Amino acid sequence: MTYRAPVAEIAFTLKQVAGLGGAHAAQDGTQDGTYVDLGEDIIDAVLEQAGRFASDIIAPLNVVGDRFGTPFKDGSVTTPPGWKEAYRAWAAAGWNGLASPDEWGGQGLPQILNAACVEMWNSASMAFGIGPVLTMAAIDALAAHGSDTLKQAYLKKLISGEWMGTMQLTEPQAGSDVGALRTKAERAGDGSYRITGQKIFITYGEHDLTDNIIHFVLARLPNAPTGTRGISLFLVPKFLLNADGSLGARNDVRAHSVEHKLGIHASPTCTMVYGDNGGAVGFLVGEENRGMNCMFTMMNEARLMVGLQGVAIAERATQQAVAYARERRQGRTAAMPADSTAIVAHPDVKRMLMTMRALTKAARAICYATAVALDHAHCAADESARKRANDRASLLTPVAKAFSTDIGTEVASIGVQVHGGMGYVEETGAAQHYRDARIAQIYEGTNGIQAIDLVTRKLPLSGGQAVKDYLSELKSTIDAVDATNDPAFGWTGLRLGEALHSLERTTAWLLAELTKNVDGALAGATPYLRLFASTAGGCMLAEEALASLRLNGGGSGPDTAGRIAAARFFAENLTVHASALERAVIEGGDISGWDAALAQAAS
Ligand SMILES: Cc1cc2nc3c(=O)[nH]c(=O)nc-3n(C[C@H](O)[C@H](O)[C@H](O)COP(=O)(O)OP(=O)(O)OC[C@H]3O[C@@H](n4cnc5c(N)ncnc54)[C@H](O)[C@@H]3O)c2cc1C
Repeated sequence: MTYRAPVAEIAFTLKQVAGLGGAHAAQDGTQDGTYVDLGEDIIDAVLEQAGRFASDIIAPLNVVGDRFGTPFKDGSVTTPPGWKEAYRAWAAAGWNGLASPDEWGGQGLPQILNAACVEMWNSASMAFGIGPVLTMAAIDALAAHGSDTLKQAYLKKLISGEWMGTMQLTEPQAGSDVGALRTKAERAGDGSYRITGQKIFITYGEHDLTDNIIHFVLARLPNAPTGTRGISLFLVPKFLLNADGSLGARNDVRAHSVEHKLGIHASPTCTMVYGDNGGAVGFLVGEENRGMNCMFTMMNEARLMVGLQGVAIAERATQQAVAYARERRQGRTAAMPADSTAIVAHPDVKRMLMTMRALTKAARAICYATAVALDHAHCAADESARKRANDRASLLTPVAKAFSTDIGTEVASIGVQVHGGMGYVEETGAAQHYRDARIAQIYEGTNGIQAIDLVTRKLPLSGGQAVKDYLSELKSTIDAVDATNDPAFGWTGLRLGEALHSLERTTAWLLAELTKNVDGALAGATPYLRLFASTAGGCMLAEEALASLRLNGGGSGPDTAGRIAAARFFAENLTVHASALERAVIEGGDISGWDAALAQAAS
């Protein structure tokens, strides 16, 4: 079963829920300058074309990529059959530079449109989609912090996709703790630097899709301060450039090996070695010892993009499970006792499919709302609007990344279950989605680190005002559901209201706990993030249902009925976990006895 990009669904969420128009017309940015040139015709045309490319060109390569992998021989990686052609056609169509600055050859479109496209590339193939995600991050870092000379030499070709980029932080002793990295940079005396050391787990560190690969490498200068304050960012091309910009000598960097791994087999994950022959030539991006600042510039975007991978894989797994459940016949129903029925008719299977669909829609809405906040943070005309939007983007980013990638795996796992034994064997593809989904919870900051970021850095933003403002917006949605008095919503308003109260109490508790018992707050970070996301996601699905009602003048066609049913399912079945999560945070975070129990695990 292959993938059909859900273009209409994506457009609806963008316009009616995320804040790109429709119900949000007053705040959609056409007034503050963010989306001033973005007409519906442009939005629809971009989504349509991206949907076609993802469905027709990339999606059929997903299985090929999984089976072929990325063989490594004599320092070179071969990508699977058809990948080079697909990548080049994709880059030639301008998709890589959709949201990049137009003065460097990009299309200058907002991040939200790019986010929708990134979802589609990654639904089509996560192993394909992750390469451009990292190149886009590299472009952001170079555009924001690179010297004019570096931008002139590298930016256009990165934006056009003629060259790809990598982001290199991880070393054996420096994973979540980036500050522990040891790769060295030394001043060469001519303005350049020499890089020596080793990086591990580098996505697309070596491949044959492009003639040059531009590595963005974190390294430490002699006598640099310890920890993250002593890290600098360097651009290290695989091939150095001649004076006329053509490819010159091979730089002193190579891939040493490629990992064998659970999923995304077609994405080469490389160990990189720098300095076999005295040091790779690197060029400083930004200032010495300010490398983490450069990383922060693109961190929100990169984390959002990985969150979108979670949405993407969940969407694809759901499409496949629904199609399978309509075909596979087993058992009988009360309504049709004589004939075997398609399994989709069984209430338990329907529940699985509804869970998949509702989680996917909620994660999509959260990710798109984050992308809209990022656009406002960059482009809103007045500074206070930019600051508010930046707070909103910062608050939502860890939620978008962790929740979406957690549900990516959960949804893909339910997808396997819907297929029964055919899900566990490789034939149907359900197993591949499950294997592929798992990495997104780990890279770009593990989901545990996202939860800690939410609690320790994002809740206190602007003295707690950022989260307070957000929670009061959720309250308005719940009030609007209640005001409809529409029985089709069932218990939606009540359940969302209960979840919001849990979230409010837990937020206040954590903000206080942070000042007296940090370990207690950290122990509750992961359940808190889930509570936050399921309350926000539930409200966003309700928002979507309300928008559909409004568009239909209060009447209900099949489209509106489906949206109300999804919102209702989420509120009545998934946000009901809110009170349990509240208790886990507030009552369950006393870690004093945990070591004793864990000691038994080792005995
Ligand atoms: C397929 C793949 C592709 C990758 N691509 C890239 C890439 O392109 N570039 C790159 O630089 N890196 C890349 N990585 C590395 C990835 O970002 C790291 O694996 C990730 O950041 C986690 O680091 P770690 O593996 O060292 O785990 P660890 O940091 O050892 O973490 C292990 C566990 O401990 C938890 N933990 C660690 N520290 C804390 C803490 N302070 N508080 C609470 N919990 C903590 C983590 O949440 C996790 O559950 C990739 C990894 C893989 C597997």
